[in-house]
Formats: sequence, C-alpha cells, structure tokens
Amino acid sequence: MKLLNEISKKQKGKIPIAKIDIPERDIKDLIPEKYLRQDETFLPELSEVEVVRHFVNLSSLNYHLDKGIYPLGSCTMKYNPKISEDMARMPSFSAIHPFSPEETVQGALKLMYELSDILADISGLKGITLQPTAGAHSELTGMLLVRAYHNFKGNNKKKVIIPDSAHGTNPASCTLAGFEPVGLKSGPNGILEIEDVEKAVDDDVGCLMVTNPNTLGLFETHIKEIAEILHKKDALLYMDGANLNAIMGIVKPGETGVDILHFNLHKTFSTPHGGGGPGGGGIGVSEKLVDFLPVPVIRWDGERYLFDYNLPHSIGKISTFFGNFGVMVKAYVYLRMLGEQGIKRVSKQAVISANYLKERLKEYYLLPYDKPCMHEFVLSGDRQKKNGVKTLDIAKALLDKGFHAPTVYFPLIVHEALMIEPTETEPLSSLDTFADALIEIAKKSKDAPEEINSAPINTPVGRLDEAKAARELNVRW
Ligand SMILES: *Cc1c(COP(=O)(O)O)cnc(C)c1O
Repeated sequence: MKLLNEISKKQKGKIPIAKIDIPERDIKDLIPEKYLRQDETFLPELSEVEVVRHFVNLSSLNYHLDKGIYPLGSCTMKYNPKISEDMARMPSFSAIHPFSPEETVQGALKLMYELSDILADISGLKGITLQPTAGAHSELTGMLLVRAYHNFKGNNKKKVIIPDSAHGTNPASCTLAGFEPVGLKSGPNGILEIEDVEKAVDDDVGCLMVTNPNTLGLFETHIKEIAEILHKKDALLYMDGANLNAIMGIVKPGETGVDILHFNLHKTFSTPHGGGGPGGGGIGVSEKLVDFLPVPVIRWDGERYLFDYNLPHSIGKISTFFGNFGVMVKAYVYLRMLGEQGIKRVSKQAVISANYLKERLKEYYLLPYDKPCMHEFVLSGDRQKKNGVKTLDIAKALLDKGFHAPTVYFPLIVHEALMIEPTETEPLSSLDTFADALIEIAKKSKDAPEEINSAPINTPVGRLDEAKAARELNVRW
C-alpha cells in the first residue's frame, strides 16, 4: 500500500487527466421516473467465504454436463474435454486483437488453415470458410452462396425444398436469403423417397436442404440419387451437418453429391454451448462454389499464411472479423487429439449408445420408426398420453430424478416427441441409470399418473409457467 501511495504521489501532476465536459442534466430527463430507484441503495457487505459459498451453491443448482447426462437430441451435448478450454484461454490465442498484422499472428492463421484442411477432409469438400458463428448463420451463408451461384449462371431459381424433418432454422435461413421454402414430406420409413423428390424438383428449384442423418436420427439412404436429380436441373444440394457426429470419418458427404455442408463446430467438435452460445459454424463447398466463398480466405503462399480478400465472385463478409476464434481452437484441439481413427470411433460410439438406449426403451414408449438409428432417436409419448401424461410431464419427471430432459415436441412429425441423443461420451452406467429413470416414469404413468403430472417437486423451483417467464422476466441478484 505504502509503495502504491508513493508511486501515485510521484505520478501526480505528470499524467495529464483528461477533462470531459459533460453537460449537467437532471437524471429524470434521461430515465423515466418509474425506473428510478426510490429507496436507499443496498450493497451487501460480505466476507470472501460468504461470497464464494453463495456462488458455488448457485452453480451447483445449475445442471450441466459435468454433473450428468444431457440427452438433448439435435443439440449434441457431449462432454467437452477441459484441455480444449485451457488451450482456447491461452493468452497467445485469447488476447489476439482482430486488427493484428498477419505476420504477428501466424500461429492463429496456421490453426485456422489446418482446421479448414481437416474439415475439408472430413467433409470430402473442396473449399471451407470458418466465418459463420453458428449453425443457423452457416445456413444463411450457404443460401447466399446458392443465390450467388444461380445469379452468376443466369438461372432463375426461386424455391428451396425443405423436408418436414428439418430444423426450424432451415426455412428461416432460406427465406432470409430471398428464396421461397417449399415443404416436402418424408416417406413412411422416415426418410425421403426418390419419387417424391423427383416430383418436387422443377425448374424453379434452386436447392434442396436436407439434414443427414435427419432429425429422426435416420440416414437418408437415397442421398446420391437425390443429388443426381438436383444436379440434372442445375440445382444444388445443401446438407445441414448438425448431425455429422454420427457419420464423420465414415461417410464423406462431398462424395454423396453434397454441394454445401455446414458444420456446427460447437456441437460436433465440442464446445460447451448451453444457454445459446458460444457457437461456431463453418461450411464446406464443392468445386462449383469455391469462388463465391466469403472473404477473407486463408492461404499459404509457400512462406507465410495470409488473408486473401481477392475473390471477385465472393458473397463478401458475413462476420465482422473472422468468426468465433475460441471455438475454432477448441475444435482444432479436439480433432488433433482424436486423429483420424478417433473421429471414426466417436461416430461409432455415438451410434451404438443411441441404439442401446433405443432398445432398452422401446418396450415402454412408442417408437414410431422401429429400425436401427444413427446417433439419436425419437420416441413418442402417445401411449402415456392415454393415461393423461403428456411428454412435458415426462420431461419434468426426469428433472425430479436429477436428469436433464431430452428435446421435446421436436421433430414436429412425431406426436408428443421425445428426442434422445446420448452422445459418445456417456459411459454405460450413465446410459443405464437414464434408461432406468425413463422406464420408472413410464410405469408410474400407468399406476400413478397424477404424480408425474405434478412433477417436479425435488428441484429448487417447481413447475414454471415458461411462456410467462420468458415474457415477464423477473431478474434478481
Ligand atoms: C442445432 C441445429 C441447427 C442450428 O444450429 P445453431 O448452431 O444452433 O444455430 C440446425 N440444424 C440442426 C439439425 C440442428 O440440430
């Protein structure tokens, strides 16, 4: 303290203190009276112990992957290795300024270049951009590429076909890019039928957006034929790659005729992403589309890495800078740790875990598409509904047993849907305790449905009116 005082005494008078002229205004002119505090400010005076305990207790009320399984279908909530966090937090990565000259950030550029290279290999596609900052943002980027391609070729294409098993972001992205979304029904097996695609693809169709494996957790086995139908009309095939964790290292989408594939770096390649962020997108494109990619593209000129802005047909920039770099670091670490064989093992394990749970549960819950699934599967709560127990009740009863609920009421094509994705990182014991809990809930739905209807009772707060809570926030500290 003494030393600090001396320093500040010495500096007194030497450091010019900027004078800022702020015109005096009555606070009431600036903030409406009703928002002004009426009572005295209350600032708690607490010891360190009290503060630490307060926040540790709060953090333990939260549910997260470090506590248990997070079977949120479609969202791919896998365990995220802690080393990736450590790497992303290294000041040499985290403290880089986006305006740093290229020669001072060669390591970061190398990481982005090599990550792009690995993703090109996994996807079997030619060009990569890492700029989009989420899956949905990647979809928009992809749709802008589709538009740029057709404009360049002088094609007059207005429509984009979107199957009924698609994520809600797909039609939104295509609309934002100026296309008209056209729905397409999946066949009785839960996948697209060749004849239906053939009928739907007319001269106005510029693209088909398919999720593969789709949101029912089923592989679109006719994908190559679908690509051929589209290509004959100079239309493009977009693959929503949010489910890539079921097939990476095994199927290269580019080899199935896909023209654009988006990656959800945060899902497939592990970044904690509960609560809406942070995300990392990125897309891979076939030869036809590389000239339209957003700028800058990272290149290696034989001596150094550089940002190339010289892409005459580029759609331009789609992020202020270069994307969510921290998420790229985590994806890179994850991929380098696993290697080619590890990536393949992840996909196989994700598929085995999902099939294991599906087999354990199908006796107790309706399984509308009873066939081998990929990394996730969708049950229906229709049987339980007959006893007055809705899927929402089942989800709430799971909270009571200390689990995070699966995705509910999505995809829309399954009544009372429960969409379960265990991911590859759950040990067998965890899959079993989760299955046991769901089986117990199914039994209770028959014997004592009112208990399930009133769940949860063991959580810090009981059943909430979620719609009201979202509209009338009651934020407290
Ligand atoms: C998560 C997801 C998206 C959207 O990705 P975000 O990163 O959440 O924007 C799109 N499609 C599917 C199938 C998804 O699961």
